[in-house]
Formats: sequence, C-alpha cells, structure tokens
Amino acid sequence: MPDTDRQAKQNLLNLTRQGLADWFADQGEKPFRARQVMQWIYQRGVDDFDAMTDLAKSLREKLGRIAVIEAPRVISDHTAADGTRKWLMQVPGGSAIETVFIPEAKRGTLCVSSQVGCSLNCTFCSTARQGYNRNLCVSEIIGQVWIANKLLSDAAGDEVFTPRVTNVVMMGMGEPLMNFDNVVAAMALMLDDLSYGLSRRRVTLSTSGVVPQIDRLREVSPVSLAVSLHAPEDDLRSQLVPINARYSIADLLDACKRYVAGHPRRRITFEYVMIHGVNDTLEHAKQLEKVLHTVPAKVNLIPFNPFPGSDFRRSSNNAVYRFRDYLLSKNLMTTIRKTRGDDIDAACGQLAGQVRDRTRRSRKVTAEV
Ligand code: SAH
Repeated sequence: MPDTDRQAKQNLLNLTRQGLADWFADQGEKPFRARQVMQWIYQRGVDDFDAMTDLAKSLREKLGRIAVIEAPRVISDHTAADGTRKWLMQVPGGSAIETVFIPEAKRGTLCVSSQVGCSLNCTFCSTARQGYNRNLCVSEIIGQVWIANKLLSDAAGDEVFTPRVTNVVMMGMGEPLMNFDNVVAAMALMLDDLSYGLSRRRVTLSTSGVVPQIDRLREVSPVSLAVSLHAPEDDLRSQLVPINARYSIADLLDACKRYVAGHPRRRITFEYVMIHGVNDTLEHAKQLEKVLHTVPAKVNLIPFNPFPGSDFRRSSNNAVYRFRDYLLSKNLMTTIRKTRGDDIDAACGQLAGQVRDRTRRSRKVTAEV
C-alpha cells in the first residue's frame, strides 16, 4: 500500500470505545458497529475487515478503504531461558521500542512501553541513556498488547484465539505520565469489557513521580499505581531520579495519599532499586520505613540490573534480605522482585530499544510538565 493511502486511513487501534462510536457516526454508520468491531479486534485478534462476518459485505469493503488495524511491527523476538519473551517493535520514524512478556504459573504479565526513550535521566536506567525521541500514540501502546496476545495465542496453537496477557504493567521504556492522554486512553481500552476487560488491579502504571499528573490520573483512571521511590531522602533521590528536584518526596507521598483516599483497600506499590553501597544499608531501610509510615504502602525491592556503561552494582543478596526483613519486622509489606529475562536484556531498567533521534536528550524535564 502506498504511504499516502496508509496515512489517509484511520488506524482503529487509536480509538477508545467512545472514539470509535463517534468515528462510525462520522462515516454515516450506526455507532453500535463500534461494539462489534472492538470485539473482533481485541477479543478475536482480527485485523482483517473481511473476517468480520457479522458486518455487511458493503461495510467491510468500505472499512477496508478508509481504515486499518495496525499494531507496531515486530522486528525481533527473543525468548530467555526462564521463558520471558522480549520483542523489539518498529515504530514510524526509524525507532524501535521493547515489550516484555513474563509468564508465570497463573498469570502472564506484559511490560508495556509508553515512549520512545525517556526524558527523565534516572542515573541507573538504561532507557535514559538512549535519550528521548517521542511519545507513543494510542495504537502503539495498545498495539503492544494486541500483538503480544496474537503471537502468544498463535504460538500456543489455539484453535480459538485466547488472549494470554492477564496483567499489564506500564513499566517498559518511558515515563507513562509524561504521555498522559495516550496512556490513559490505551489503559481504558485494556479495561474495557468489549476489549480485554482486565480488572483495575491487573493494570499498573509505574511513575517516577510526576506529581500533578498523579492527581490527574486519579480523576480519570482507576488503575493501580506504582511509584519508583528508590531513596528515602531528597538529596539521594534527586541524584538517582532527577525529577525529584522538582517534586520532593513529601509532595510525592501527599499525592500518593490522595490517590488512595476513599479506597481503604488500595495501596501504592513503592519500587526501590537496590544498588550496592548507594541506597541499600539498614539505615536506609529505617529511614524508608519512617517515610512510608503514613501511606498505605507495599514495597517492591528490585535488585539493580546492570547494563553496559553503568557504574552501579547490584546489592548483595544479604543486603537485600536484611533490608526486606527490617521492613517486614515493622509490618511493612515487602517483596523482592524476581529478576526475569536478564540473559536477553529484558529485565527492569535494561530496555534500550533503538532510539534514533537523540537530539532532545538534554531538554529540561521541567519543560514538559
Ligand atoms: N518511568 C517509569 C516507568 C519505568 S518502570 C518509572 O520510573 O516508574 C521500570 C522500573 O524499573 C522503575 O521502577 C525503574 O526505576 C526501575 N529500573 C530502572 N533501571 C533499573 C535497573 N537498572 N535495575 C533495576 N530496576 C531499574
């Protein structure tokens, strides 16, 4: 198909339920067609209008002329020794993003990217080294889930398409709250009963702490929130997560309290990367416990995953256990994130993708907020 045709066509993966209904109405069609088409796309993994047999042939032909269903194109596919699967996906502009599937006994978690690169420059993260290129659009975000479900169902040899992704974590490349509208729309699709119908507990957005956007998120989306804390005091946190210079730990924790207010059973997950000699002493654990005292919290310790060119080292197992045991002794729910897929660079903080345009790397993070 010539590029001009492609550009003129509406990619239906860019539209939420309401957006799709409006689009059908604009085309002079019944808005309820959106329901049928959504079910074909997400629940049956179909990207060919001809296969949508409950639509009139004339409508199928018309859709073929004016619309496409187009997820990012997979350009490489690696499976780790532990079954973790990582895809590199091409997005327009010559860049590529990474998506990781983590199979477990009772669930399959997809780690989804929200941006090409990242602008936040966290010092321990490989994505930051790539620089920032651009936000992903809705079709490129929900498309990661669509294509993963399709490839996983195909690989399983299903006779009837069965989505295998049961949980989504917005923990791939990028800062999801810096791409607010597109991420919120894509997550609405993940939760929609006409699409994957995932429960709010099974969709988690992880943020480095963009405080005003946490408040906006609370108003428009019910998803679970994870916060990359990584340090119990501001000086250290500002070194590791530079956006902390703008939004302090106190401001961040206030936003977290507002996020769960009125929902007694909700908790915020605080991610804490364990870096040898930097933030992993018993003293840090004590400070952390004090800081989190007033927030409904659970802590997820992530042993640092090395990447080429990084000077940091992973904390020893003993340091990680000592840290966890202290927090547990204070009744703070604490888990250690199992490292998955590190033999294919699919672990937390190792997603590099292929970021073509690095020119915006040095842009101030504050400019976007
Ligand atoms: N920008 C969002 C989404 C990224 S999520 C955020 O900051 O939360 C990826 C998680 O992995 C974050 O908690 C991030 O801080 C953590 N991480 C980044 N680099 C890492 C590394 N090298 N080792 C372990 N965890 C890392």
